[in-house]
Amino acid sequence: MAPVAWWGVTRPHRPTAELPQHLEALFRRFPFDRSLAQDPLSCVLPYARDRQSAEIAGLFAATLAVGNTTAIRRSFAELEALTGGDLRGFVEARSDSRWADALPGFRHRWIRGDQIGFLALRLKRIYERHASLEELFVEGMRDDGFAGGLGRLSDELRGTGAAGDAAPPPGYRALFPQPREPAHSACKRMTLFVRWMVRRERPDLGLWTHVDPGELRIPLDQHTFWIAYHLGLTARRTRGWSAVEEVTAALKAVDGSDPIKFDFVLCHTGISGDCPKERDLTVCGPCVVRPDCLLWKGRRGAG
Ligand code: SF4
Repeated sequence: MAPVAWWGVTRPHRPTAELPQHLEALFRRFPFDRSLAQDPLSCVLPYARDRQSAEIAGLFAATLAVGNTTAIRRSFAELEALTGGDLRGFVEARSDSRWADALPGFRHRWIRGDQIGFLALRLKRIYERHASLEELFVEGMRDDGFAGGLGRLSDELRGTGAAGDAAPPPGYRALFPQPREPAHSACKRMTLFVRWMVRRERPDLGLWTHVDPGELRIPLDQHTFWIAYHLGLTARRTRGWSAVEEVTAALKAVDGSDPIKFDFVLCHTGISGDCPKERDLTVCGPCVVRPDCLLWKGRRGAG
């Protein structure tokens, strides 16, 4: 099939011209309450009244956002139990000699308690110099836009390497990848954290007021990437930073002021099983983006 140009980007698959309306319909009809209860963001919402507490809870929840959502929420609840329900107090109590054994036995997939303890220490050190993580993000944005903001935040969370600073435990620095590093990671967990903090509309918190929601980048997890590819929002087969930029650019053409509003809907369409990721008329029948879906291209009943 010859590639075609769509929204300024060459793609092997072309959705219908009505895709923007289809995405808006998907967004309007989506059962947010059903899916929010499953989402790691539901762990952070109880902390929303205090910005620093919300940042701390959000960063822990986003760092643990690997694997299925039930396991993520279970691990976050375990973290709350181990810290006596006081995550901010846990951060404030860390010191260079009191982080490694703070969470004995805690483990979520490959993420260990000593790494979470070190993250708490890094947060304590950051809050000694900044009122909010937003200050770091905005500093980085001045140099290199959204990628620069992520890079600055990641640098500080990894640790400055300054003389006298505690050295991180094995594997810790890899928890905070950066878009400009050679691996060109999609940085899903950090873009998710920033989405929670910045977007003003439900289900997000809107606590960072100096970052324009129109500047956000999509947290590209496996579900979002699958559906974005099959709707022609990206031609890339690798889920890296270039795909993040491409999908975000396509969504900006739908809503320039709030392109990432579609992230929750696209992601939970996959998580919930609303999208079977295969051609199944009993499930795909009511799907509003079926006319745009690569799996239904040229099929009877696609539109
Ligand atoms: S048509 Fe089916 S496979 Fe395609 S996006 Fe919709 S639910 Fe998923």
